[in-house]
Amino acid sequence: MTAKKNADIKAPPHIYWAKLGGDYLMTNDAGEHMRLSAAQFRRFSRTGTLQASPALNELRDKGFARDMLDFEDQAAKWGQSNAYVRRGPGLHIMVLTLRCNHKCLYCQAGAAGAAAGGTDMDIRAVHKSLDFALNAPGPGLTVEFQGGEPLLNWAALREAVVYGERKAAAAGKEIKFALVSNFSLMTEEKASFLIRHGVALCTSLDGPADLHDRNRPLRAGGGGSHAVTVKWIKYFRKRCGKDSDCGPSALLTVSRYSLGREREIIDEYARLGLHSVFVRPLTPIGFARTIWKTAGYTSGEFSQFYRNSLARVVELNKKGIFLKEKTAFLILKKVLGFEDNKYVDLRCPCGAGLGQLAYNFNGDIYTCDEARMLAWQGDPIFRIGNIFKDTYAGVVSSAAVKACAAASCLDSQPMCARCVWRPYCGVCPVYNYQTQGSLWGYMPANERCKFLKGVFEAVFNLLKDKRATNKVFQKWVYPESF
Ligand code: SF4
Ligand code: SF4
Repeated sequence: MTAKKNADIKAPPHIYWAKLGGDYLMTNDAGEHMRLSAAQFRRFSRTGTLQASPALNELRDKGFARDMLDFEDQAAKWGQSNAYVRRGPGLHIMVLTLRCNHKCLYCQAGAAGAAAGGTDMDIRAVHKSLDFALNAPGPGLTVEFQGGEPLLNWAALREAVVYGERKAAAAGKEIKFALVSNFSLMTEEKASFLIRHGVALCTSLDGPADLHDRNRPLRAGGGGSHAVTVKWIKYFRKRCGKDSDCGPSALLTVSRYSLGREREIIDEYARLGLHSVFVRPLTPIGFARTIWKTAGYTSGEFSQFYRNSLARVVELNKKGIFLKEKTAFLILKKVLGFEDNKYVDLRCPCGAGLGQLAYNFNGDIYTCDEARMLAWQGDPIFRIGNIFKDTYAGVVSSAAVKACAAASCLDSQPMCARCVWRPYCGVCPVYNYQTQGSLWGYMPANERCKFLKGVFEAVFNLLKDKRATNKVFQKWVYPESF
């Protein structure tokens, strides 16, 4: 369509729309979506309705036709998808140490050598962090252990689980734990403890051995880490059986060396029996910023990688191999299930201080883990307090939390406010600040916005296939119905 014809379109103000493929995709604040042909969309945009047809029924059912807006239904769906706004931070990141025995190409965490001292969280800070986290008003919380490599501070991790369980029970709250680890220091004894306490396990797997080892070498001697990671993935797969929480799950960080190898990488996940792959772009924060010229890529290259990876994941599912791509899954939870997906990075406002708090080894509190990483690079702008000195109320109502909420409110972002992906998207103040110099950033030139558009397009283009692909996606969102 020419620019002139596009300018003629006057779609009703309560919908978001974009041309996608040959059709027009429309979304609304309830999270509903539907497609119209070009002719239908022109008619709808002129008159606000269509002739009697299945498309008109869909317009009315989904809240796109003004004459039949069901406000209660729309509000209920919005409420379900955005339940987090009433809950306060549910995710609490504990940085148990900055020490690490890996030297990953893209490390954002500011990890120090395994033997370096002075960056371990002590037991007093472990207790105080958990006491602090239990002040959050929600009925439950997830405590995620991060590093560095958290297993290097096993005594603190063990104590956090035991103390956290006791304190949460006394407070009448549900507590869950998650461990993000490279697994290289795992032992049978540690594994048994983690399984016994239901700690969700997550590791990193960047693909076949040569690729993983290039991205994630061990620090001492620089050898590869693929073999030991795979050994423990297989171990947990066997011990946990179908318990998907203990799983384990794995994160894939895409470097320039991954491009063009989508099929091999996804097949490696399938070979190991993993049920989920989280295809994540490299973020130019921390050390990754310094290697961007060699290991980075454009948003267009990432979108291509994502599209191919998701297509391969769906292809495997159609052959009976269950494997979810996590970003698509999180988006689909909102698109198909109208559910709060609990993912703090795709929210309006984002989860900085409202959905997540990060506790550094020394007790400093940050709006989120990425903010803590930025501080390690020398800029503590998102530091919002300290567990030994500050109160919960003071921290969550700090200026940095308010500024992040304002900057990540999509209605205050000119481009986002009318974007077709607005009901499912979120902007990142830390990313904006790091890459564009302000919390608000500038979306027309924002690489994160560009790659998110690529991700949304890939998911919605596959959703167009009403039969086989839709069945795969339904199975991800509603596994109990299959
Ligand atoms: S960040 Fe980009 S994709 Fe997301 S709502 Fe804003 S303009 Fe749309
Ligand atoms: S600032 Fe960015 S990384 Fe931090 S919670 Fe918000 S979206 Fe996520």
